[in-house]
Amino acid sequence: MLDTTIAGSLPKPAWLATPRMLWAPWKLEGAALEEGKRDAVRLALQDQAEAGIDIVTDGEQTRRHFVWGFVEPLEGVDFSKMMRIGIRADRYQADVPTVTAPLRRQRPIHSAEARYLRSQTRQRIKFTMPGPMTIADTIHDVHYGRRADLGVDVIQLDEPAFNVYMDEVREWGIAALDKVVEGLPCRTVVHICYGYGIKANTDWKKTLGSEWRQYERTFPLLAKSRIGGVSLECANSHVPMSLLGLLGDKDVLVGAIDVASDRVETPEEVAAVIREAMRYVKPSQIYPCTNCGMVPLDRDLARAKLHALGAGAALVRRELPA
Ligand code: ZN
Repeated sequence: MLDTTIAGSLPKPAWLATPRMLWAPWKLEGAALEEGKRDAVRLALQDQAEAGIDIVTDGEQTRRHFVWGFVEPLEGVDFSKMMRIGIRADRYQADVPTVTAPLRRQRPIHSAEARYLRSQTRQRIKFTMPGPMTIADTIHDVHYGRRADLGVDVIQLDEPAFNVYMDEVREWGIAALDKVVEGLPCRTVVHICYGYGIKANTDWKKTLGSEWRQYERTFPLLAKSRIGGVSLECANSHVPMSLLGLLGDKDVLVGAIDVASDRVETPEEVAAVIREAMRYVKPSQIYPCTNCGMVPLDRDLARAKLHALGAGAALVRRELPA
């Protein structure tokens, strides 16, 4: 009851950054800076522990500013092109970096800090991050032209476990999924497959019988959930395509490429899977896709399968009324 926590940041030690100042420059460089940041996190944790705070943060000791910490590692943001703009509806002025090219995340952001925080305390921890709208408000964009476009278009959550723990899906899996996607401003998808084309999976599939009906139990629950779409294994699977009709108005990412086979599909084979799906789902809701991820495949093979997917979808697209 009444567990305490802080919003996020704490003042930094004077040897790390100029005190009483937002966007304060670092006083250290290179390896000394990295070590100094970690020392500051330990002090922030100690201060919170001594004060009896229950759920602790790293005090945001590793970031010059709560938004910059996230934006600095991104590709497409130019910190040499600083621009003074009014932020928060012009409430105050800030020097912000400029978005000059498509935003790309080249490596995980803040994961090392989160791991370090976890390693330094046995208390419950909270990790804070800026939200998309606030990030967009704290950078100068000359590339996209529209703030909403700075975010992602689709977020996909991968849930192969949904085909294994059928009772748990009903008990808490769907509710957990709903919690994750609640309030997301973009389209959302859940990927539910029968796994990569590795031996453990192909052996398992042999035990599932001639008709795979796992989806039959999950789809009616997903149809009532917040999730926007479902990514499925349809190519060479024993899933009866009629089950797609249980998904209501959800988008359907129809797996038309078998990732467990080294044979490249023909465009006509891909088209046949898409046409079959169209018997149960409107074309406007269908997104031709691969059955699962292709990471274990040979690169040339994966490239050939991508081409088959594109060509097969194009075949069906030409048959649709304009
Ligand atoms: Zn998968």
